[in-house]
Amino acid sequence: MKLARNGTGPELFESLQGEGVSVGTPSVFVRLSLCNLHCRWCDTAYTWNWEGTPYPHDADTAQHARKYRREEEIIELNTREVVQHILSYKARNIVLTGGEPLVQGRELAALATQLRETDPGYRFEVETNGTLTPPPALDSLVAQYNVSPKLANSGNTAPEREKSEALGFFASCDRAWFKFVAATPQDLEEIRTLQSRYHLPAERILLMPEGTTSAALYEKMRWLAPLCQQYGYRLGDRLHVHLFGQKRGV
Ligand code: SF4
Repeated sequence: MKLARNGTGPELFESLQGEGVSVGTPSVFVRLSLCNLHCRWCDTAYTWNWEGTPYPHDADTAQHARKYRREEEIIELNTREVVQHILSYKARNIVLTGGEPLVQGRELAALATQLRETDPGYRFEVETNGTLTPPPALDSLVAQYNVSPKLANSGNTAPEREKSEALGFFASCDRAWFKFVAATPQDLEEIRTLQSRYHLPAERILLMPEGTTSAALYEKMRWLAPLCQQYGYRLGDRLHVHLFGQKRGV
């Protein structure tokens, strides 16, 4: 299994779930490497933005900007090794995240199966961009999907970011919640179009503020709150930004 590397080990850590309907839940985060999209504002670009790939990223304008060396950013562990890491933590809520974790759906099915055999109390959440369907062996063990479909502002083309088979699967799954990052009225228009095209239930849609500081988040939330009331959506937040800012692996 290809995990994101953080220093000498994998990015696998215990913290509180920072977003979505289980926000605040003590959780173990397993950050998989690799993604099938290339969002220009992605905050985990070290999982996909490799040297030699053509995708633009907002960070390209920063001084000394460079793409990542694939061999430096990936650590490969077998299922048993990942299980051993997870067993060393107390939390039983496991958040499978990335990158796009469903790129490695089969490996995750093996991981979830082994953990459940060890302790039936393990619960699994999958953070996904909603473009890939999970394999049945994984799906049968997942308690919650946090689906975050990407909009035009991500820089992915429409055929790249909107896969009807996968989005239709999540739309009809009552364990799926849809997190949309909304920053402009145009974003909201796109969300409304996707909601109507895939019959996404309003009560399973969360509008998330965009921002990397508490002040920026609160400013956006003041704009999003009346929209949530108008359309019956939930208002999301980013607990980890309030607690940790942009620090990685916490
Ligand atoms: S789908 Fe997620 S991990 Fe992939 S590029 Fe977009 S934000 Fe980053």
